[in-house]
Amino acid sequence: MFSETDFERVDRENYYGGPLGVEIDGNKTIFRAWSPLATGAYIRIYADGTGSNTIETLPMERHWTGCWQVEILRNLEGFFYVYVFEFEYRYLKSTADIYAVACGVNGDRSAVVDLKKTDPFGWDTVPRPVLENPCDAVIYECHIRDFSIDESSGVKVRYRGKFLGMAEDGLYIGKGTTVGLAHLKELGVTHVQLLPIYDYATVDEAKPWEQQFNWGYDPKNYNCPEGSYSTDAESPSARIFELKTLIMELHKNGIGVIMDVVYNHTYLTETSWFDLTFPGYFYRMREEGYSNGSGVGSEIASERAMVRRYIVDSVKFWANEYKIDGFRFDLMAVLDCDTINEIRSELDKLSPYVMMYGEGWSGGECALESSRLCYKWNNAAFPQVGLFNDDYRDAIKGATFDVYRRGYVGGNIDFTNIVKRGLAGSVPHPDISGNDEAAWAQQPYQSINYCEAHDNWTMWDKIIISCGDFTDEEKISADRLSAALVILAQGVPFLHLGEDFLRSKPKKVHGSDLETHEFFEDNSYNSPDFTNSIKWHRKIENTEVFRYYRELVRLRRTSPLFRLRTADEIREKLHFLDTEDIGVILMKLQDESDCFAVAFNPYREAKWVDLPGGMYFVRLSESGRSHEFPMMSSHVSIPPLSAVVFERCEEELSDLREKVSQHTRRFGTRNLM
Ligand code: CA
Repeated sequence: MFSETDFERVDRENYYGGPLGVEIDGNKTIFRAWSPLATGAYIRIYADGTGSNTIETLPMERHWTGCWQVEILRNLEGFFYVYVFEFEYRYLKSTADIYAVACGVNGDRSAVVDLKKTDPFGWDTVPRPVLENPCDAVIYECHIRDFSIDESSGVKVRYRGKFLGMAEDGLYIGKGTTVGLAHLKELGVTHVQLLPIYDYATVDEAKPWEQQFNWGYDPKNYNCPEGSYSTDAESPSARIFELKTLIMELHKNGIGVIMDVVYNHTYLTETSWFDLTFPGYFYRMREEGYSNGSGVGSEIASERAMVRRYIVDSVKFWANEYKIDGFRFDLMAVLDCDTINEIRSELDKLSPYVMMYGEGWSGGECALESSRLCYKWNNAAFPQVGLFNDDYRDAIKGATFDVYRRGYVGGNIDFTNIVKRGLAGSVPHPDISGNDEAAWAQQPYQSINYCEAHDNWTMWDKIIISCGDFTDEEKISADRLSAALVILAQGVPFLHLGEDFLRSKPKKVHGSDLETHEFFEDNSYNSPDFTNSIKWHRKIENTEVFRYYRELVRLRRTSPLFRLRTADEIREKLHFLDTEDIGVILMKLQDESDCFAVAFNPYREAKWVDLPGGMYFVRLSESGRSHEFPMMSSHVSIPPLSAVVFERCEEELSDLREKVSQHTRRFGTRNLM
């Protein structure tokens, strides 16, 4: 209908910076929508979110900027509405308001709500958690339904799989094993990253009794919460109130909330709210039709003036109205760097604690010069934003898309150098040569370190599949080693819900043979609860593994050396020492007050390392224990497939020798290494 030339002209002549969406002003309700090339616009008001209950249809008036407006002399709180735009004197189908902050069931109609009335009691008194630096964060990726849908969650039946299910505190199973929100606190994460919580398309909210699942990467209404996570999808304010309740409960416990945002594509294209509002403007086009940089049908033209404004407004809305503490941008390389930088500077004005990071890749070729897009290799153009470190992920785990290929934790020492790069925050470091592409970051906060996320095989499933010849004990050791590599690396650690107790995504009920990949799901975006839900009793079964993750998080959070803030600090305070075996890594971290040596052994046999000068004690053994007494020798054995953290004793050597000899007199040499 319209061409690129039309859109360029619109951007020059019709930029509109005023209010959009609904405004309630006493006994007046004002609706505003921007669509400069429409030849007419109408609003249709309804009594409900669905069904034939039209109250009236009214024409809207065009302002010269291209904003259409209608002022109704009533307070329409509680009513629903859609717009109908007309182009070249032909009506399109009706559309929801792209600026709507509330909607009816399945997001088909927008709703008028007074947001003030959706705040839970105490909302204004609970501050967002303080985050001095992104490297202080420990991120935990959770899906609202996965979190509590299984009965092992102990959550009240009507809250299972809902926002309110995740908000329930104080739950435990067995002999005091914490689950749910209490588990988050025990693990010690600082932030949860929630898979999409905005309104998405592919779960039918009108049928909550049916077992339906989706990750939610299919956006429908960007500024409304998803209805299937609410206890009442038909009430526009219930989902808002319940999401805010969850955020407030997390904030009360010092846990920040990061939102997964998907501004790179919409679920529908020709019939999306964007296209029914202004056909073509919101998407990048090619001669043959919609460009498909997302790999799922379309790509958003973030570089266009009013599209950029839309994305910036949307992020600011969530950060302000919902006190969201961070944003994770899905397929961020579909978006242009200027848009991402503008969001960063707007968020900085609001609060320096709001995190921003994303995937530095796209799902296909985009119809904009790649030098303008947020690809990982282009990160110097948007240096204040983090990126998922796929180099490090694949080095730890083995190739993501070749399930039988082993990573460092499976004994593949070809990855040793890239693992060192990752441990050093992926910033250039003089102790490491080669694999320079894996030193892509300018600063450590840019590197989001992980080996497991919702995509692809869980770490545990990948170990089972690729390390079939390992004993059960060796498999668990390999998993622990992966945790140490993620949590003790410079940069920002990122874990996936349940990774800390060996989360698995089974595809089908299986017998005793678990060795092949066919038993597990890697792309579980619409798989049933059987595959996706958290079975909390796994935490009881793998309590020792969980303990190890928890101790790693505790060590990181209590020792600033594991979260250095600048590349220069890393080059000054972190060094790699020589080892006899090519795959064994010995890392030293030292500042004025502390000194740690961390050894990583990817071999299936114990290896020896020589700790640098001084006397050390074991701060964190391969099983997560701390030893009180120093070791008698600096020539130490590192168990197979493990990481061991040593801390240098700061007490006077003579005092320590006295302590050791007292201990020896009482207990013999037991408990001394
Ligand atoms: Ca929905």
